[in-house]
Amino acid sequence: MSRDSMPTLGKSRSSALGRNLIVLALLALAAGGVVWWRKSARKPAPPPPATAVAPSASKPAAPPAPPPRPPKSDDVLKRAGFRRVHAVINGPLETAIVQQVGRELGQPLTQVVVRTLVWWVDVPAGLRKGDVLDVLLDDKEGDPVVEAIRFQSEKNAQTYRVYRYQAHGAPFARYLQADGQELEQRLKDGPIDDYEQITSLLRDGRGHKGVDFKTPVGTPVKAPFDGELSRKNWKVGMNGNSIELKESGGHHRTALFLHLSEIAPESKIGASISRGQVIGSSGNTGHSFAPHLHYQLESSDGTVLDPFAVHETSRRALPAAEKSAFDAAVHKLDALLDLPTE
Ligand SMILES: [Zn+2]
Repeated sequence: MSRDSMPTLGKSRSSALGRNLIVLALLALAAGGVVWWRKSARKPAPPPPATAVAPSASKPAAPPAPPPRPPKSDDVLKRAGFRRVHAVINGPLETAIVQQVGRELGQPLTQVVVRTLVWWVDVPAGLRKGDVLDVLLDDKEGDPVVEAIRFQSEKNAQTYRVYRYQAHGAPFARYLQADGQELEQRLKDGPIDDYEQITSLLRDGRGHKGVDFKTPVGTPVKAPFDGELSRKNWKVGMNGNSIELKESGGHHRTALFLHLSEIAPESKIGASISRGQVIGSSGNTGHSFAPHLHYQLESSDGTVLDPFAVHETSRRALPAAEKSAFDAAVHKLDALLDLPTE
């Protein structure tokens, strides 16, 4: 044991402390040098990983003041006049929705949701376990009015959003994507110019043979191609007032129009019809529960065709003058959709 290590008082003790500090400083310098050398030896230096912690973060920080308790999401929604349905798919879509809101609302709400999802995935074939659905709807009694939907698709590894918006002077609200384009495609030379919503598509898994356009009684119905009127008012109990048109020219396809309120006087069996000619008016006749047009296309051998595969299609965009009002609506709805779930 050396004399310096003997316990002493006063000066010699402080000088021992000073020596210890010098040793520590040298060690720190050496350690720093090693780190520097190791860093500079790596070529090229990789970028720091995204999760790298800044050195200062290792210092114990003063405990932050507890944040003010955020208001409950459901209360925020209620104040805004909405309710939200959050469902994780683990079987049939309707089961997931009914579990959240009960059968009375869950069944009609599922139908409304499916009309949206079919533009992104086949339903039910394209749904996957773990898909996440968030629906914002008006907090009112009656038929569910869906204001926004967010859907995270496992199959497509994508999140979709759609917002209900009615442009000034437009007859109906429509579902728009964030870029202002309509969710639904439009048919070029389709049987009907404007309508509220497509309520059934061939790909929605209901085994229905036509496309249903929800539209007020009396909406003009037009011929989608040149042809000959081949049948009228058959199975009236089911079809209501109905027209069948056989295409002239190469394809010889058949178009059926069901549930009409009126048939145009020119629409006689055997009459030549030109594309775009008004052949009748939409209605709610036969086996129909709400005013709509049923439009069905078949090939010459009777195979049912999807009009969205046969017609040219496009998506309408919101007029530029509406963009800022729409963006504000999207901003508000997104904030509600993104509230934490409880
Ligand atoms: Zn139909």
